[in-house]
Amino acid sequence: MRKYDHLEMRCPRLGGEVTFSYCRKEGGGLPCQRIITCWSPFFPIEQYLRETMTADAWDAFVRQIPKDKVTTIIELIEEAKKRAKQKNE
Ligand code: SF4
Repeated sequence: MRKYDHLEMRCPRLGGEVTFSYCRKEGGGLPCQRIITCWSPFFPIEQYLRETMTADAWDAFVRQIPKDKVTTIIELIEEAKKRAKQKNE
């Protein structure tokens, strides 16, 4: 079991509780397309994925996300970074 795997949340797609371990493999071995949106309020999910996925898997994950969602996710990441920075000041 990896760090964070035990964490649970209510899945907006399935309507029930899921663990992070489910979310990081939901997309046929790749993370769910919504994983950054769902988990970014709880821990630095993008950083975690980049550190734990191979470069090829990360590229495949990013490629599977529709372009408009990539933009949204990048915006969410930037907002999360700003919030974290403000919290540390
Ligand atoms: S990342 Fe995907 S599977 Fe996990 S809670 Fe969000 S929508 Fe559900």
